[in-house]
Amino acid sequence: MAKGLTPRSEDYAKWYNEVVQQAELADYAPVRGCMIIRPYGYTLWENIRSELDRRFKESGHVNAYFPLFIPFSFLEREAEHVEGFSPELAVVTHGGGKELEEPLAVRPTSETVIGHMYAKWIQSYRDLPVLINQWANVVRWEMRPRLFLRTTEFLWQEGHTAHATRREAEEEVIRMLNVYAEFAEQVAAVPVIKGLKSQSEKFAGAVDSYTIEAMMGDGRALQSATSHDLGQNFARAFDITFQDPDGGLQHCWTTSWGMSTRFVGAVVMVHGDDQGLILPPRLAPIQVVIVPIWRTEEEKTQVVEAALKVERSLPGLRVELDEREQFTPGYKYNEWELRGVPLRVEVGPRDVRKSQVVLARRDVPGREGKRAVPADGAADAVREELDSIQEALLQRALEFRRARTVEAEDYDALSAAVAEGFALAWWCGGDGCEARIKEETSATIRCIPLDQPEGSGRCAVCGEEAASKALFARAY
Ligand SMILES: [Zn+2]
Repeated sequence: MAKGLTPRSEDYAKWYNEVVQQAELADYAPVRGCMIIRPYGYTLWENIRSELDRRFKESGHVNAYFPLFIPFSFLEREAEHVEGFSPELAVVTHGGGKELEEPLAVRPTSETVIGHMYAKWIQSYRDLPVLINQWANVVRWEMRPRLFLRTTEFLWQEGHTAHATRREAEEEVIRMLNVYAEFAEQVAAVPVIKGLKSQSEKFAGAVDSYTIEAMMGDGRALQSATSHDLGQNFARAFDITFQDPDGGLQHCWTTSWGMSTRFVGAVVMVHGDDQGLILPPRLAPIQVVIVPIWRTEEEKTQVVEAALKVERSLPGLRVELDEREQFTPGYKYNEWELRGVPLRVEVGPRDVRKSQVVLARRDVPGREGKRAVPADGAADAVREELDSIQEALLQRALEFRRARTVEAEDYDALSAAVAEGFALAWWCGGDGCEARIKEETSATIRCIPLDQPEGSGRCAVCGEEAASKALFARAY
């Protein structure tokens, strides 16, 4: 600490890199493109993981683990898949002191090896559906690394399911998209737009890819999770077949879906301010920090006792009592603000005399965010305040997105809008119009939102008839 943080309002990119390191979420690794997730950042990831894991299990999925190494030839079996992933593959050519007969890919994603195993495990319609998720690391070689947002190795979960019918698979893809969206909004307070990827932006090997897209604090988009309808592409490549009730042999319909440590970057970028992180209470590693304030030993005994009483009244919450001797209260306030703890409880000698404690909200700086509450009712007040902070963060992010989203009718409006945020514009569906926008404004089609207006319009680029609106933005 005390290094001084570049204000977010002054230089967003610099602020992001500094806050991630100063708040001790992550640090750079000796290998370029890799990162070390420090305990505070890892706890945040663990909280994301347990919220998602619970939702996956509630919707019938189970966890398993597949190997890190994949025979290189597996990737080549699905033509689009290998083409899409080749540029970012890490390949192992030597092992045990010898050159390997077949090189091994370090998994960039696991459709191929899982497809190989599903072909073995699935024989009959009675074996379906298969609903497996894995928590794992993957490697995609990164030329322009950024902590959490783009790292060569990252952590994620990847769900892989196999179904007897196209309809079941399509329902699964949307079900998991909805799980991600609900998690992002209700737990991380990150509002998202659900939609379909354009064919040029879809996952390599998928029939259709769906995404949730969030607006970061500088107006750029971040793809926060994806859910892929793989059709029968991987089932054909890996021979995943089953006997139907009439004795016929059919290919399965498969899906895959994932969310990664990238989302930690989204939480940082959506909610922070000039002082540092602001973490949504439902994800925060520490939800409440209690800071006792004293000058004399006698005062210390009193305030620490009162602080302990507050701590004990909050079972089930993640609470830290900061009674470190070597730091002043002011120093502690700054540190916990930098680290984004949503709520601070201050207990000084005057508060003890008045049988009260002071609550200070991280999301509302200064006096305005402070209020004194009776020590007796502190537990209820703390819980209410945390709920209120959670809601306020979501509303603030929604308001920010609303203010930076433009319904663009023509090319000029579209190109001006993507310099500041999101543009919603009619799109004819043509690759040429998509490519022109990308080349001239560096914005891409983030998705074709599932939520569409009535009727049709004219493509903002070429003026041709367009059946749907697309979401355009510059993206991380
Ligand atoms: Zn067009």
